[in-house]
Amino acid sequence: MSDVLLPSVESAYSSPDAQGFYGPYGGTFVPETVIPALAELAKAYETALNDPEFRNELGYLLRDYVGRPTPLYKAERLAEAVGLGTVYLKREDLNHTGAHKINNSLGQCLLAKRMGKHRVIAETGAGQHGVATATAAALMGLECAVFMGVEDIRRQALNVYKMRLLGSEVVPVAEGGGTLADAVTAALRHWVERVEDTFYVIGSTVGPHPYPAIVREFQSVIGEETLAQLQVKGVGHVDAVIACVGGGSNAIGMFYPFLRNLPDESRPLLVGAEAAGLGIETDKHGAALTKGTPGVMHGFYSYLLQDDAGNPLEAYSISAGLDYPGVGPEHSSLKDAGLVRYEAVTDAEALEAFALLTRTEGIIPAIESSHALAMLPRLAAELGPDAVVVVNVSGRGDKDMDIVREAGLGTD
Ligand SMILES: *Cc1c(COP(=O)(O)O)cnc(C)c1O
Repeated sequence: MSDVLLPSVESAYSSPDAQGFYGPYGGTFVPETVIPALAELAKAYETALNDPEFRNELGYLLRDYVGRPTPLYKAERLAEAVGLGTVYLKREDLNHTGAHKINNSLGQCLLAKRMGKHRVIAETGAGQHGVATATAAALMGLECAVFMGVEDIRRQALNVYKMRLLGSEVVPVAEGGGTLADAVTAALRHWVERVEDTFYVIGSTVGPHPYPAIVREFQSVIGEETLAQLQVKGVGHVDAVIACVGGGSNAIGMFYPFLRNLPDESRPLLVGAEAAGLGIETDKHGAALTKGTPGVMHGFYSYLLQDDAGNPLEAYSISAGLDYPGVGPEHSSLKDAGLVRYEAVTDAEALEAFALLTRTEGIIPAIESSHALAMLPRLAAELGPDAVVVVNVSGRGDKDMDIVREAGLGTD
């Protein structure tokens, strides 16, 4: 009880507890039939983490297959344009398959193999996690089925085609609005029926325990590399670190090593940028932390966009990777503890940041990542012209060309 009422700084980031709670958030709100599978997963994960062979194999794949470490690039023209002293970009856009998602898909597929499962399933919205998992499955010779809402299948034809090329089955989900939240529900339901031979590869730091902890672990390579790269570059002081937040996996992967390794007084300001869509005063956004209230969805308790009856609302963002009505439980805990600041960024602000990075540095970012980049002018106003800021560029923008063209960019 006192844990919930008096979260210490320590408990806010050394979480979760044995039941998978980050303060009051997280947990395991699933049908009883899934509990043994989650327990089996937690055990296998624990053993794998302590097995040097597993770590070596994952480390090898991250290096030679994904292309890690990704560079920490000093963006001088961008810094000048936004009025900051120094801006470093963590280049997750340079990973194989174009985003951070492959870090997690490889880790979970390796776990699946260790557990003797020959089949993996995944959910996907924009198709990025689906493509990353289909890629890892092809690499490891695993059977793969990706659940995807019918509306998303229509909007993301290229990624659907890629998954099929890679040898995966794409399973259409017609329930609800036919988008990401419905795909997660369908994947969880399917997993219940096939747990003996099937591993569920979750795409963000969401879902029932131990998934949020597993995804955090596999994405922490982002922040660990960043800390080491800052040290090599002789950067002794950083004012702020920014990442975009959909489910929260690239953000927690960047933030967690800063939370764990640095004392409060020398830790940079950590900023999560969520989707304000058409504006948080409208009902067209994905700002679960800014505008949501705590509730249960997809097996965990966290901030959530929900109606009065507790049903999840449809989220909206120009970036498909950010339109999820919930957010990972650890982010809810970090928000309440004041250890991370969360702000919402509109479609229009993200598009402006997208254009700015493209024109000043010749780097075309994902629209998701552009939400993080859009925080730079706000932070310049707050931190002043000498500040040093790190931004996680979670992915590249190739997948977003149709959307930015429709929005009218590049036609001037
Ligand atoms: C999926 C995706 C995101 C959002 O997911 P998180 O779990 O919040 O990281 C952000 N950026 C890119 C490029 C993505 O593909």
